This record gives sequence, C-alpha cells and structure tokens, in this order.
Amino acid sequence: MILIINSGSSSIKFRLYDIQDKNKPKDILEGLAERIGVDGFWSFKYDSTKHEFNDKLPNHKVALKLILDKLIEMKIIENYNDIEGVGFRVVHGGTVSSSSLISDDIYSSIVDSTKLAPLHNPGALVAIDAVKAIMPDAKLVASFDTAFHQTIPKENFLYTTPIEWYENHGVRKYGFHGISYQYILKNLSTILKKDCRKVNAIVCHLGNGASMAVIKEGLSFDTTMGLTPLAGLMMGTRSGDIDPSIIEYMSKELKKDVVEITTMLNKNSGLKGISKISSDMRDVREAFYGGNQNAKIAIHKYTTIVADFMVKYANYLNGEIDAIVFTAGIGENSDFIRTQVLDRVNILGLELDEKLNAYSNDYEDYKLISTNKSKSKVYAIKTNEELMICLDTISKIYLRSTK
Ligand code: ADP
Repeated sequence: MILIINSGSSSIKFRLYDIQDKNKPKDILEGLAERIGVDGFWSFKYDSTKHEFNDKLPNHKVALKLILDKLIEMKIIENYNDIEGVGFRVVHGGTVSSSSLISDDIYSSIVDSTKLAPLHNPGALVAIDAVKAIMPDAKLVASFDTAFHQTIPKENFLYTTPIEWYENHGVRKYGFHGISYQYILKNLSTILKKDCRKVNAIVCHLGNGASMAVIKEGLSFDTTMGLTPLAGLMMGTRSGDIDPSIIEYMSKELKKDVVEITTMLNKNSGLKGISKISSDMRDVREAFYGGNQNAKIAIHKYTTIVADFMVKYANYLNGEIDAIVFTAGIGENSDFIRTQVLDRVNILGLELDEKLNAYSNDYEDYKLISTNKSKSKVYAIKTNEELMICLDTISKIYLRSTK
C-alpha cells in the first residue's frame, strides 16, 4: 500500500491506496486530521462509512501514529510495514524538476525553499519528520507543485527586476499546481490519443487557489503563479497580480507593515475582498443571481482575467491548441464560470455546447463541452492530485526510471 500525505501547519489530509496493480492504484480510504496543536479532530471515510475521533492532537507525530494504529485496529493494515511507500505533497521544491525519493539533498531543498513558501512547506517537513520517526523502513517520496514548471524557459520565468535578485536570491517565477497539471496532461494524452510530448494545451486550474498553465509540446511553457502562489489570477482570497507599489502605499495608509499587507493580499482579497460576500464561488454566484453589484464586479473581474490569460497563452501556441481544460472545484463544476470566461474570449473561435456544458455531475473523469464548430476542443476534467502523487511514488519506489 501507499499512503499519500498532504500536510499543512495544523492539518493532515491523507489517502491510502492499494497498489497491487501498480498502473491502477485503488483508493482504500481518505481522511483528515485537523486542529493539530490546538485541540484536535480527525476522521476518515472507509467502505462508505465516516469514522470520527476527538483525540487530542498535540503534534503531527501523535496524529499520524493515532491514524496508523487505528488502521491496524480496524484490520485495514496488519502492521506499518504494509505501507511500503509514503508520498508527500510539497508545495515548493525550488528548482527540483521531478518527484524524488527524499534523500538528504531533497530534504535540504525543501528546507531551503521554506522561505519562499512559509505557509506551506513547514507542514510537509513536520509530516516527513514524523513519518521517518514512526515508519523508518518506509520509502518516502516528495511530489512538488513547482516541479512541472521547471521547463518554463528563462525568458518566461525571469521577472523584470535586477538580474542579481534572481542570481543571488532566487527571485523568479516557479509556478504551482504542477501535480494537477501533470495529471491533466497525462489524461489529455489518453483522451486525445496523442503522445504527451505533442500535446498543446491551456489549462485553467480554478479552485480556492487558482492558476493557469500553457503546455507546449507536453512541457510547461508559462504559468500565472510566480515566486509564490499569490501571483496571477484573482482567487478565493488572494489578489493575484497587482501593481507592486500598492504594498508600500497601503502600508503607509493603514500604518501596517509589509507582512501585514501581504497577509491581506493573501487572505482578504480576491473574490472575498471584492464581493464582500465570500471566498466561495457558490456564494458569490448566488449573490450574482440575486443582483448584488459587488458580486457582479467580482465575477466580471474573475472571468475577464482568466479570459485575458487564455488569449495570451493561445498566442504562445500560435493558436494551435489541442485542448482548453477547466479543472479543480470551480473549473470542474461551474458551467456558469466556464460560460462567463468563454464569453469574454472573443478571438479564438471557441464555442461551448450549452447542453454538454450544463452543470451535471454525470461525468466520471472528463467531458467535452465544446461544439464541433469550436476551433479548439474545450474540456472539463476532474483533477486528482493524490492519485498523481501515488503514481509518482510508485514510479520512484519500484520502477527506478527516475529522471
Ligand atoms: P482547493 O484549492 O481548496 O483545493 P477546490 O478545488 O476544492 O479548492 O475548489 C474550491 C472552489 O470550488 C470553491 O470556490 C467552491 O465554491 C467551488 N465549487 C465547488 N463546487 C462548485 C459548484 N458546483 N459550482 C461552483 N463552484 C463550485
């Protein structure tokens, strides 16, 4: 079996896979431990039953041990050794270019990248330390959200800041959501019956955090997030791209330091900041239908920014686009947002099929939502980052075909 861990500073999302068929891992259970270090609550779903526990969770190690011991008690595993590998989601891997067995060097890269992802990487590190202590024999693999974007050419990843900022301090675009993009590309290759290395696509990963990537001949060519996941699109609570001078200006206006202003750009901006309703697209859409003006502006901005990047990325592909993909919570589910985005793309000859696009949860993995007159195919595809991490973990542990 393989255990997948997506760990934050006070939470651990986990999923267990049976990997007897290494090409088709089978989902056994998924769960969440939260409020770690505060009080603690954890649960998991197994055989369609939800199991809930109120144990105190002082730290990640205690939480993981409780989870693993419960799996033994419930005879889901016999002992820790049934879990041969553990795959960790790591948001920032700096310039590491693929998922990797966690060697001392890889561990150091994660530590070094922590200053670039102070909200995300520490959670992964404490979970890695905890698993190492509890399961010393398991093979540990890190999958990075940044790795997929390491193919972005220098002209695209450099900012227009002094080159020494890049050379001495690593200031460049890294990009995120790479595990999701990798999964989408793999699926697109199957859907289109086309070698991965030939696929040209524009992918919109629209969740709470949101980004887009342009994939040129199977490689990330550009993406909207940057040094950190704050850049690019308007998101649930993050501003996306803004004039950098706003930070100093608002720091003076509000008499707050740069850290506090940056926190406001991360937590109080985007859909939440503009609509003043919610960071959740479903709430904002409800308000939009109710005629709320702030919600209308929020949706207008949200969809215009996606549409603008789509046009820019289509230009990068010379208009030769195999697929435009909508994925993640909003992209997969919201026919409303998909329609609004494509209504604002005027020059690519795209046409949505109203019936195919209409909201319905009837599709398993993907659905085509464009008409056959549309110049490029448009799809909604369900992403599955945990499965991608699991497949990566299997390949690093068993196949040794590592790059
Ligand atoms: P995260 O980045 O936290 O993984 P998700 O990918 O789960 O986020 O996406 C969360 C977003 O998806 C929320 O804004 C939520 O409103 C939106 N969403 C989920 N289901 C729907 C739906 N049926 N219609 C519109 N938006 C949806």
